Amino acid sequence: MLKNMYRLINQDSRFDNEPKRLFVLLRWIYLLMFLYYLGLILLMYFLKPHRFFWLGAGSLLVVLLAFGLTYRFRTKVNLLIYALIQLAWINTFVYQYGWDCGVQHFIFALLVLLYFSVYDALTFKILCTAGMFAFRFGLFLYCRMYEPMVELPVSFEVMLQVYNSVSLFIIFGIICGNFSSNIETAEKKLIQYNKQLQWLASVDPLTGVWNRRTMSDHLESYMVQSRNRTFVVVLGDIDHFKQINDQWGHNCGDAVLVWLTGIFQEEIGERGSICRWGGEEFLFFPKMNGDEVFQVISELKVRLDSSRFEWEGESMKVSMTFGLEEYDFQPDIKELVKRADEKMYLGKERGRNRVIY
Ligand code: GH3
Ligand code: MG
Ligand code: MG
Repeated sequence: MLKNMYRLINQDSRFDNEPKRLFVLLRWIYLLMFLYYLGLILLMYFLKPHRFFWLGAGSLLVVLLAFGLTYRFRTKVNLLIYALIQLAWINTFVYQYGWDCGVQHFIFALLVLLYFSVYDALTFKILCTAGMFAFRFGLFLYCRMYEPMVELPVSFEVMLQVYNSVSLFIIFGIICGNFSSNIETAEKKLIQYNKQLQWLASVDPLTGVWNRRTMSDHLESYMVQSRNRTFVVVLGDIDHFKQINDQWGHNCGDAVLVWLTGIFQEEIGERGSICRWGGEEFLFFPKMNGDEVFQVISELKVRLDSSRFEWEGESMKVSMTFGLEEYDFQPDIKELVKRADEKMYLGKERGRNRVIY
């Protein structure tokens, strides 16, 4: 029974673009209001200050009906129904039993609910606030001028004050709890999404290694951090890559880029950073001295010399030309890469498949 009730309350909206959470929240509120009216009927029945049966029974029916309507209508209509029920209830109760029972405070829960459920509607919110203030103030003035229809014993009024305050705080807590947990969830999602976006913006989508911007930022911050330390960057360009594309197709070219990246990662791995600088050019930044870098890149060249790339049953040799350049404490990173590029081109001129230091 409880399980079915829970499922009924959590049922999705039948409108695709309407948030389910608001319907669920309204159903919980109606359920609480149902219990609230039931409690009020029992209080009135057992303590007998006044016959409340018809007003109580009518209110129970109204919230049951409103509960059912959450499955039929859109959010805005349901919010309107909820607002009308609350205002009618406050009005009737205050008119009937006076100001001192505290039922008018329910208007604050209504205001908070409207504020959090309606987006991008500042004018609407201002009008709601002003309207509710006018309503509450009007009721207050009315109560100052006229006696309530039913004079309740003061002790019972105090009891109702407590009963209304507790009920209001529960409803208030549920509304605020619901919206604050929504904000938390949204914030967490946003942080995760931002991290994902940052990652996507920092890597090359084909090979998964850093892109030019990430490497430039990394080199620049490294330069700032290690003012007195020198380092080496390596620019590597695939030889006759255009021929591979022309002969075997663009997909094969892409696969060569991915295959090479795997080899770079095995050879350089943890010892430095790898980036796709442009089309078929890669920039390496091994964190070692010049001689060590030369050694590592020469080993990489030997590995390429002895490997063959397999494509559709054929195998081909892929070679690269590398230019190594040492950081000479000039602040411009572009200048450093340009000099590595010049060395790489020198290697191309000298016949490709070589390392120039
Ligand atoms: P060289 O030895 O002088 O470097 O000759 P090359 O053919 O490698 O150089 P070139 O600059 O003439 O051609 C580079 C080619 O790389 C042209 C371009 O279509 C190709 N290319 C650039 N980016 C990609 C990519 O992401 N995928 C594929 N398949 N090809 C690419
Ligand atoms: Mg090139
Ligand atoms: Mg090339």
